[in-house]
Amino acid sequence: MDSNLGFADLHNHLYGSLKPELLRQMGLNNPSPRWEIFTKPFQELYGRSINTGTFFEDYKSLEDFKKIYLFNHQGPFPEFQAKFNLIIALSKFDPQEIKFVSKHITKDQYEEGVVFGEYRIMYSPLDTYEGIYSKTLAACEGFEEAESELLGKVGSRLVVSLHRDGEFFKEYEMLKEMMEKNSLIKKYLVGLDFCYIEEGFPPKGKREFLKEIQKDNLAEPSTALTVLYHVGESFLDKTLLSASRWVLEAAEWGAHRLGHAIAVGLDPNAYLGKKVLEPVSEREDTLKFQLDHWDEISKYGELPAKKRLESELDSIRHKEKVEISVTENLVSETKAFQEYCMDRIKNTNAIIESCPSSNEYIGMVKDKAHHPLVRFAHNDLKFTISTDDPGIFGTNIKEEYDKAQSLGLDTEYLEKIRKNSFQYTSEILSGRIESEQGAILER
Ligand SMILES: [Zn+2]
Repeated sequence: MDSNLGFADLHNHLYGSLKPELLRQMGLNNPSPRWEIFTKPFQELYGRSINTGTFFEDYKSLEDFKKIYLFNHQGPFPEFQAKFNLIIALSKFDPQEIKFVSKHITKDQYEEGVVFGEYRIMYSPLDTYEGIYSKTLAACEGFEEAESELLGKVGSRLVVSLHRDGEFFKEYEMLKEMMEKNSLIKKYLVGLDFCYIEEGFPPKGKREFLKEIQKDNLAEPSTALTVLYHVGESFLDKTLLSASRWVLEAAEWGAHRLGHAIAVGLDPNAYLGKKVLEPVSEREDTLKFQLDHWDEISKYGELPAKKRLESELDSIRHKEKVEISVTENLVSETKAFQEYCMDRIKNTNAIIESCPSSNEYIGMVKDKAHHPLVRFAHNDLKFTISTDDPGIFGTNIKEEYDKAQSLGLDTEYLEKIRKNSFQYTSEILSGRIESEQGAILER
């Protein structure tokens, strides 16, 4: 691997990287696709009924298949999920296939310029120890084969996505045990991720977990894992103030990389004139946070007087939800709060993973001018650029860097980001390896 020659793609979901032609082929090879996962939500959201008996005839041409598979328009998360369901329906998701996919994706990505990738995989909450073990091992074997066929010019690592509402302490323990048991898993498994719906799962629910991981990483660096945390990507249920606070909390409590973190840099003018309905618990946490850090935050801009914040806190106590109007005042208050959060995040070790296509399609960035990337750069935040689900978005790492450029970052700056990204790998961030011997050097 040579960081002078390629890209590190650090935020990528393995099955979301399947290109249309490969997914179609996998579907044809699957004797019993799980159609029901796909057809109903697709009909509901896209108004098209799918004849499963003639599916591969109806979508015989790659162009037609692309139309039904690719998600490359602006739409809310359920519309993305409805398309992702086609992946779930057509794939078998057994060890043999996982090994094939891991190998194939590593090669596909390499052809597009990726020399180091971290790929996320998510198991069913109903899967067994044996099921998870064999799938995890299969992914590692696929990576190993691809690396060896490509003569060590590429590196792939595995990250397991955990369910936000699942038994993540138990799953963590289980994965650590698998690493002790199998040297391939120990080598390739480098991190844990929290993804999928974020609304309703505040970072405070993961604070103890993050603490435990940090403690274990220090105690046993050879099996250290990062926590990669999708946060501030989708925040339909709260204000930008609260969503920014979530990003800050995840960073300060020890998440190693932050997936998207749009909220903390999105221009609040995007919400001017709108109303946001927020759960009282969130509003309370935000008001308390502002009161606790009032002097500090007010250095960044005007904040409502402490008395006003206190009386609001008092008045909402017995409600369930609060309706908040996004006025000019709130816009400037939010801007100041974001600047404050970004300054604090800068002083943590957290790295933001920015995925321009993903932000454009499913993220909450409706207008390019509001995109957080340029603000991240102005505020000297550490970030990397990634593809997220390049297969289903129909993108690749170079296109993502081009999109970043079209958002306002210059080539020189992007070259710095590309190079730095090799220092932001899970193995380095978790303390498993020293940065000098990081992904940039051949192992
Ligand atoms: Zn993601």
